[in-house]
Amino acid sequence: MTLPSPARRVASLLLALAAIATLGRAPLAFADEAKTDDAKLTPVFNPPPRLAITAQELTARKADANFPAVRDAAAKAADALLAAPPALPDGFGSWMFYYACADDGTGLHAVSPTEHKCPKCGKVFSDERTVAAYRGILHSAADGAARTLAWGYAYTGDDKYVEGVKRILLKYADDYAKYPERIDRWGRRGLFAPLGGRRRVQSLEEAEGAMPLTQAYDLTRMSPAWKETEKKHVEADFFRATADTLRVFPMDIQNRQAWYNAALVHIGSVLEDPAMVVHAIEGPGGFKDQLARGVGDDGLWWEGTMAYQSYVVQPTIQLIDGARRMGIALQDNERFKLFLTSPLRAAYPDGSFPCINDSDPANFHMFDYSYEWAWNVYKDPRFAQALAWGKPDRLAALLGPDAKPASPLESKSADLTGIGVLYLRVGEGPDQVCATFHYGDSGGDASGHGHWDKLNLTLFAKGREWLADIGRIGYTHKEYKSWAKRTIAHNTIAIDQADQTVNAGRLMFFKAGPGFAAAAAESTKSYKGVTLRRYLYLTPDYLVDVFDVKADRKVTIDLPAHAITEPVMPLTAAGVSKMAPPLGTDNGYQHFTNVMGWSPTGNSTWNFDGGKAKGSPHLHVLLAGEPDERIYTAIGIGYRADEKAPTLIRRREATDTRFVAVYDLAAKSFAVRKIEAVPGAQPHVKVYLDKTTDDINFGVDGVQVGH
Ligand SMILES: [Zn+2]
Ligand SMILES: [Zn+2]
Repeated sequence: MTLPSPARRVASLLLALAAIATLGRAPLAFADEAKTDDAKLTPVFNPPPRLAITAQELTARKADANFPAVRDAAAKAADALLAAPPALPDGFGSWMFYYACADDGTGLHAVSPTEHKCPKCGKVFSDERTVAAYRGILHSAADGAARTLAWGYAYTGDDKYVEGVKRILLKYADDYAKYPERIDRWGRRGLFAPLGGRRRVQSLEEAEGAMPLTQAYDLTRMSPAWKETEKKHVEADFFRATADTLRVFPMDIQNRQAWYNAALVHIGSVLEDPAMVVHAIEGPGGFKDQLARGVGDDGLWWEGTMAYQSYVVQPTIQLIDGARRMGIALQDNERFKLFLTSPLRAAYPDGSFPCINDSDPANFHMFDYSYEWAWNVYKDPRFAQALAWGKPDRLAALLGPDAKPASPLESKSADLTGIGVLYLRVGEGPDQVCATFHYGDSGGDASGHGHWDKLNLTLFAKGREWLADIGRIGYTHKEYKSWAKRTIAHNTIAIDQADQTVNAGRLMFFKAGPGFAAAAAESTKSYKGVTLRRYLYLTPDYLVDVFDVKADRKVTIDLPAHAITEPVMPLTAAGVSKMAPPLGTDNGYQHFTNVMGWSPTGNSTWNFDGGKAKGSPHLHVLLAGEPDERIYTAIGIGYRADEKAPTLIRRREATDTRFVAVYDLAAKSFAVRKIEAVPGAQPHVKVYLDKTTDDINFGVDGVQVGH
């Protein structure tokens, strides 16, 4: 699910050249490539079934008290597929994201195989790209249907379901050689289509389909309804041919390689090909290599988004299950366990995830399937707590009637070094406040899933997110590239209305103690000749945010703060407001609407109101005034292309300047009465509270606070 770019095309070409050597050795074989096998893995091929379930597990399941209900549900689902057999597409399937309206990005509805209507604007599409994308959807549906039918057979022993499975697998075996040699979603062919495939325009989707299809075959192949010649046809002309497609362009630690690995373990199982299995586990880019290099010491997937983390967890679990049914125990790999638990360390206090890089809004329950799997495999109570969080009945069912709920979420501040995000956390339970600080790894290059957001800040307090990173909106939306990835769409510094360069910053310090968490980080590579330093000090009541900018020339500096709230308004005298000229014309600035310019004298306070209703929570931000600073309020874009996100932008023309802001986290009242920025080489801020004044002195390697 990576994106095209010149850099990626060059990389693709290099991969293509590397693959020519591979293609020269026909037929492709793993035997000579599995030399990393120092653990002497030996797959055991017991009589089928041995993929989705083993014969032993099936016997046990049939003896279970609730088996009749499980069997009847499986038979009902399979019967529906016999009554209305899934359409089997003639020809390869294209990318499912192409099945969307060219004008507004909305998913289409099929009127007929050649006519596809946008439910939003009513436009009908019948172009080849749309039709091929629809075939892709039919392929996916058929893949899933095969497995549903196969379970009908596994539980009932009725051969009528095997006929349904055979119809799908034999069609693919008949057609596979007739699909394009190799084609990708940009229409490139052969060696110029490293991400491409044959049955689908991405090898990724063929790998995804390989799991249900091999399982369907494995669950039914002992039935006499399968002729020996048919089995050979499916094995050689579909499964082995699919494996060959998946092996042409190895993808190292890309998320898609995790799917290739799982698919190859599955195909290796049905083909009884030990070398194929071992290579997918121990070869370059295999299971072990991906965990070693693709997962950081924080347990998080290197791309730094939960969607991609889940996208790797899913096939990895399937790979482990396929392997353990061949007698290979990978489930006890410690790094894999760290990988499974890491989402619990990367969540806000309410369990939702900040939307860093190409993320979508989600919470830790998106990993429930993995906690359920882990609970069954390890019987470790923390997985039961995660699975049953907020569900007392479920907790009692899993851990017994006396079980006490224990938050599965991390409550301490943490440096997630792999993705380079600091989680500053203070307080417990519903009162916990949390700020995330993206100081480090960029999560991939500019063409990948990273955003140009170094030193970005998000803020969660009093049960909701305030300062937001809005994630990716969606690849089919033009705002993905024109807004979501852009620097100005983040809560960090943009220089001269341009984007930052992709880089990793440097953490200067990170300290946490009773009632506070503090950190500072620096980026010298976001802009040439510019040093950015951000200092944060978080308490249950407020967040101090100081941004120092030093440039080797006079630059225009913008520091935005984005929140999904009512439009941000001044609470103090803020000078004459007027409609302002556009803040910029490109790089995301073109999306700002309702731009108002303000010129407060001295300090000012601004209000992000959490709702129109009286008593709604709010976020107040107190700014230390600076002569010649202009403040703008505007409307940007939120989590969806049509969601409005108010923005407060501070703009200065300077070579050396300091932005001081204090966020009041009281939400329904006021904790901070006023603030004072004390001049000096290092940031020094006084925060006046009701009963006390906090005197905060930042150093380059720590913070000192007096009261
Ligand atoms: Zn439309
Ligand atoms: Zn972002």
